[in-house]
Amino acid sequence: MTEKIGIVGAGIVGLAVARELARTRGAEVTVLDKEHQVGVHQTGHNSGVVHAGLYYPPGSLKAKLCREGVAMLRAYCAEHGLPYREVGKLVIASGRHERPRLAALAERARENGVPGVAELDALALREIEPHAVGVAAVHSPHTAIADFPAVARRLALDVAELGGSVRLAHPVRAIRERGGKVEVLAAKRVLAFDRLVVCAGLGTDAVAAMAGDPGEVRIVPFRGEYYALAGSAKDLVRGLIYPVPDPRYPFLGVHLTRHIDGEVLVGPNAVLALAYEGYTWGRIGNARQILTWPGTLRMARKHWRTGVKEVYGSLVKREFLAAARRYVPALTAADLERTTGGVRAQAVARDGSLVDDFVIDVRGRLVLVRNAPSPGATSSLAIARHIAGVVPAPTR
Ligand SMILES: Cc1cc2nc3c(=O)[nH]c(=O)nc-3n(C[C@H](O)[C@H](O)[C@H](O)COP(=O)(O)OP(=O)(O)OC[C@H]3O[C@@H](n4cnc5c(N)ncnc54)[C@H](O)[C@@H]3O)c2cc1C
Repeated sequence: MTEKIGIVGAGIVGLAVARELARTRGAEVTVLDKEHQVGVHQTGHNSGVVHAGLYYPPGSLKAKLCREGVAMLRAYCAEHGLPYREVGKLVIASGRHERPRLAALAERARENGVPGVAELDALALREIEPHAVGVAAVHSPHTAIADFPAVARRLALDVAELGGSVRLAHPVRAIRERGGKVEVLAAKRVLAFDRLVVCAGLGTDAVAAMAGDPGEVRIVPFRGEYYALAGSAKDLVRGLIYPVPDPRYPFLGVHLTRHIDGEVLVGPNAVLALAYEGYTWGRIGNARQILTWPGTLRMARKHWRTGVKEVYGSLVKREFLAAARRYVPALTAADLERTTGGVRAQAVARDGSLVDDFVIDVRGRLVLVRNAPSPGATSSLAIARHIAGVVPAPTR
């Protein structure tokens, strides 16, 4: 009998998982999403960068799946005629105190097998980005940009071509295990599956709770706000300009990124949101769930200074501009126009630590992706292959 697998979430990860399970196991897959289009949440609101794997601790799932994911995504985009451009990334040290961290980053990138990484001085970095300044930089020439929503749409077509279905406007409201099946209530219908894979991003905790497995970490939403460069200011940035990351946080700091549509975005910051889909300040609908997780308050206590700075930066454009001008001093306030942002689904542990690595739990008939933040879009095809490898084979 054909194995039936349900997937919650039609973001880039859920769709990649569905395609992989249909392709490699011959499973009959059904993807369920509450929205009316695929890739509406994190997949459709991010920096659009195909990360090369500079940052992640060697041996981590992120390091492994990012490197594998880049190769798979590049091939997938080539196969389907989807845009993919190696515009290159500069990670710039703006002061001498950042040099040791920059050198450590270059070392880590090499350990992760990132190709072409070079360490540049203040002059050499301007050959790559003529309007940028800094005391030194790491250059990753193969870091790329792609259109992740277009990849998600193509994956949905693949799923259909492989005999699966993507059911939109199907919010999952209840889950129970009965008679060797996982029963899912969605859009007033009960669907029975042999296995269920949860790739629900910002909705992960709610779906995990329905499945009776809240787990040891919780999603804390961090809003990432962006400005777009207006008019000819776009010409000040050729590719991707990043700060040296602060090792205490999984976020990469406000960066300047050229997008596949020609826009250049500045952002994202990282502001704790009080709603899972808290795209704007006014949304506070999940404050109780978010604030009653002990990890949230412990995290806030540990990082309150950064939190206050991020909130200030969110409210005061001048702060955002200052962050961008550290790397591209020619920018002025008139060059920055507020644009739509995204919300990161970032897992936080009970002790208040921000969970750095991808977390994928296999529990009986359920697979729960509990943490798939950046570089989750880059790594999506490799995450899918990893999941197909850890889901137990059907018993016949
Ligand atoms: C600001 C920002 C910048 C980023 N920059 C990058 C980058 O440059 N490069 C990179 O590789 N990654 C980046 N990321 C991370 C990347 O976007 C994510 O890792 C990736 O999109 C995760 O995909 P996903 O499918 O898990 O989640 P999502 O795309 O969020 O999909 C989850 C889906 O689950 C659905 N869902 C939730 N609950 C339910 C329910 N109860 N019933 C049915 N459906 C449900 C939602 O509607 C949604 O469609 C960034 C993220 C953000 C927010």
